[in-house]
Amino acid sequence: MKGLPVSLLRELKGVNGFDEAAFIAAHEHPPVTSVRLNPYKDIGLFTANEKVPWCSSGVYLEQRPVFTLDPSYHAGAYYVQEASSMFPAHLLNSILPDKKGLRVLDLCAAPGGKSTLIASLLDRDSLLVSNEVIRTRASILEENMTRWGYMNTWVTSNDPRDFARLHGYFDVIIVDAPCSGSGLFRKDARALDEWSGANVNMCSDRQRRILADVWPALKEDGILIYATCSYSPQENEHILDWLATEFEVSTLSVEIKEEWGIATVASPEKGMTGYRFFPGKVKGEGFFIAALQKKEAPETPYFPRFKSAHDKKIQLQAGYLLRDPDVLFIQTDKENFSAMRPEHEADWMALQKVVYLRKTGLKLGLPAAKDWLPAHDVALSIDASDNLPCIPVNKDQALRFLKREDLGIPEMDKGWQIIRYNGLGLGWVKSLGNRVNNYLPKHWRIRMEITDTDW
Ligand code: SAM
Repeated sequence: MKGLPVSLLRELKGVNGFDEAAFIAAHEHPPVTSVRLNPYKDIGLFTANEKVPWCSSGVYLEQRPVFTLDPSYHAGAYYVQEASSMFPAHLLNSILPDKKGLRVLDLCAAPGGKSTLIASLLDRDSLLVSNEVIRTRASILEENMTRWGYMNTWVTSNDPRDFARLHGYFDVIIVDAPCSGSGLFRKDARALDEWSGANVNMCSDRQRRILADVWPALKEDGILIYATCSYSPQENEHILDWLATEFEVSTLSVEIKEEWGIATVASPEKGMTGYRFFPGKVKGEGFFIAALQKKEAPETPYFPRFKSAHDKKIQLQAGYLLRDPDVLFIQTDKENFSAMRPEHEADWMALQKVVYLRKTGLKLGLPAAKDWLPAHDVALSIDASDNLPCIPVNKDQALRFLKREDLGIPEMDKGWQIIRYNGLGLGWVKSLGNRVNNYLPKHWRIRMEITDTDW
């Protein structure tokens, strides 16, 4: 590995928990692999593995498998996430043990690591809005959130400043900010090649802009979680000092077990608390996180009065898709009716006026000439009815389906069927008797060449 930047090592010398020798030695080793399980798609995977101590659904893997070749991964049974980044679970569980009725915004959400984690912690009546400003990345985010399968996670694609109009709307805002990426030196050689002091300064300015833009959308006493995968104080402690200068905030501290190896730090000017993760001390990659509480009153959020858009006719037609059809059925875009929880209709009304909603609730599809044309999302949803026709498949057939190849199943009942692997849905096929149409969206297809020895 190329040498670590000397100026960075120099800057870190005074930081609590930084041990230069252990840090350099850790960069001689490959990163640790870990995954986080989806609690609503528990099929008993990785039960014997070592657990990530600060996240009950996180486990370490001894080797990195080819995840693309595991249909359970495609079914949303787990998400591949490095262990330090799972720490928001401990933070949120400590600060907000009751997660009912919350509105949460994950502002910089792609590809979806923090969002899938937070979605799993929230009560079903809470709403998570996962936002990603870059369109191409927003589509990966949407794919990952669809795979995770929750009705109360929505996806938007907006600039942070667009949320400012939602005064005091969110109980929690997570800003996992774009950063200089030094915490990922072990995972990504490009992060080391591209690192520079100038880029750190540029990122620090951008982080302030993002925070200032979204600040009005946080309610009084609401929680701001700020995180980066950078080691640079300019992107971490200095940002906390800046927040404390610009706004009325306090920091929140949580209990940390010593054996976790996480360092508690204080910002130099205002003594705001943050948590640092140094490889060599923690079993994970470089990470910084802090939780702050807003201590000022924004304007009262505006909720438009509205007449419910619930469509009872569609409920009768498409209700069979869901385990509990007692939700709202609403046409959210030209190509989809969606199901959403009744308590979230006001959010739909408010959000659609301000942001671009890519995924609202659970996409259900559309009525077709003779039957219902089901959306792919239903097959992956934890709310799908257990009575939907399905075809259980083995690993070979599952991979064929995911490559949009012939499944090699000689006889199939006619009609719409969900392809299920280990009890989890992967997508739809429609059998016409003499042929089978594969409805896996083209951009979800596995493109990797698979040889017989791979599986
Ligand atoms: N939270 C994600 C996760 O856990 O998977 C990782 C987020 S990554 C550290 C930062 C994200 O911020 C990227 O997806 C990037 O596209 C997005 N981003 C870049 N510029 C931005 C900006 N000006 N405002 C908001 N987000 C931005």
